[in-house]
Amino acid sequence: MSKPPFMTNRRQVIIGGLSAALIAGCAPRNARSVTETDVLVIGGGIAGISAALRLEAEGVNVQLIEADKQLGGRCFTLRTADGTFDCGASTVGPNYGNILSYAHEADVPFIAPPGKEKFSYHINGEFVHPDAWETSTANRLVGSERGILPEQLEFPVVMKNNKIQDVTNWNSEEMLNYDIALDRYLKENGVSDEALRLIDLTSNTMGLGQTSALFQMREFAGIDTPKKGDKVREVYDAANGPAGFYNVKGGMLTMIERIATLLKTEPMLGDPVVAIDVEKDGATVTMASGTKMRAKSIICTVPYSVLRSIAITPAPTGPKKAAIDNALYTLTTHVFFIPTKPYWEDDGHPAGLVSDDVIERVMANHDENGKVSWLDVWMNGTAAATMDSMTEQEMMAFAQARLEKMRPSMKGAIMPVGAYSWGQNKFVKGNKYIMRPGDARDMYPWLAEPYMDRLRFAGEHTRDYEAGLEAAATSGLREAMAYLDLFA
Ligand SMILES: Cc1cc2nc3c(=O)[nH]c(=O)nc-3n(C[C@H](O)[C@H](O)[C@H](O)COP(=O)(O)OP(=O)(O)OC[C@H]3O[C@@H](n4cnc5c(N)ncnc54)[C@H](O)[C@@H]3O)c2cc1C
Repeated sequence: MSKPPFMTNRRQVIIGGLSAALIAGCAPRNARSVTETDVLVIGGGIAGISAALRLEAEGVNVQLIEADKQLGGRCFTLRTADGTFDCGASTVGPNYGNILSYAHEADVPFIAPPGKEKFSYHINGEFVHPDAWETSTANRLVGSERGILPEQLEFPVVMKNNKIQDVTNWNSEEMLNYDIALDRYLKENGVSDEALRLIDLTSNTMGLGQTSALFQMREFAGIDTPKKGDKVREVYDAANGPAGFYNVKGGMLTMIERIATLLKTEPMLGDPVVAIDVEKDGATVTMASGTKMRAKSIICTVPYSVLRSIAITPAPTGPKKAAIDNALYTLTTHVFFIPTKPYWEDDGHPAGLVSDDVIERVMANHDENGKVSWLDVWMNGTAAATMDSMTEQEMMAFAQARLEKMRPSMKGAIMPVGAYSWGQNKFVKGNKYIMRPGDARDMYPWLAEPYMDRLRFAGEHTRDYEAGLEAAATSGLREAMAYLDLFA
């Protein structure tokens, strides 16, 4: 006699609950049966949302699963009584076709980016006005470099030496010759040590020696907006309207919240995926609560910095495992301040600051009346790593003390309102994926490579040459289309 169905179900549920509890290190709140759907999308950043929207539009049943208590991932806005502060993406670029089309459909309130105050400098122990930079003794740059302001060095220096002619073919065999350390490459091309040091201050890398020159060439070739008068720019403008950059009223999280209203199925929030079991004809995920879900395919958009601690069975091996385990992520940490007095009027220098201190940059943002309304102390790379060993309160106190020391007019004139570290965000663990020397050849081909067909990968780390939000959205669409081709 066969067993009554409830016994089989119950046994499955108990085994499922136990294994999840072991993996998650906690007991499941309640045992549930395995829910089935067509596609599970893991990660509710713009890549995951984009994949889910595309699949739903094709009539596919999709469940989006997000670990955090809100969607958005690296689109996160700190909302405080003193204002809203974008901690991740803040700007939509002129060639963001997919993002602009979601935004249009979801009626996202775009605004022009706030004016930014120029920077003053605290470099080589001197406090310098930008007008005096070129001739200042603090300026130890060489030749034509001397006339370039420190925060503007990286783009022209890399673009001057950028060998990429056609960004769609950035990793051709010939271009892979430039998959070498960025500092070495620039030095060989006559860039001074001081320029390299200053570029390191503002560069979104973990150090120029840890960065593939080819990767950074791709980054800048990809965001080099067609100039007015270029044929491609005319074609672009005709299709999209005049190219522009936009921020979102209320912050980038508002854009995500609006776009998420286009989803047909309610996303699951606040319950991280802790295990993925891949089978020949589908895959099952286990969440921290013990909930299990099965689908024909999974689109996983979780950054590899986090995916490496999710149990995948059978465990990947070889270059796919190496890519998941070793992908390098840059770090970014912000401390936000509100100016309580116009300290820039006291010392006669612009409100922004670039320094060779741990406090690398202070971006001074304007409100719509042109008044400096908030300051974003933005640290990348090793400076961010230094901050990341601190609590939020410690970060704010540390940043305030350093600023007041470098710039005495700030004493009693700035109020800290919050801090945010992407390295400390346990569901992202970094700002973005970056290629080390050699990774364009050895790791890049494996980033987007599916695992056993059914476990597929999207997210900014799997992108080609596109930039930022658009790249992440495009990667989600790529995997949605792959599902439709292969399994629908
Ligand atoms: C400081 C900063 C500034 C930026 N500025 C810009 C800008 O101005 N313009 C621009 O275009 N781009 C910008 N970017 C880049 C842009 O934000 C990212 O490329 C994009 O948001 C990445 O989207 P994603 O979906 O690939 O990843 P994410 O947004 O990181 O999404 C991944 C999601 O997976 C979730 N997750 C993780 N683990 C689990 C788990 N176990 N279970 C379920 N879910 C999980 C995470 O919580 C997260 O929501 C910026 C990024 C940063 C950090």
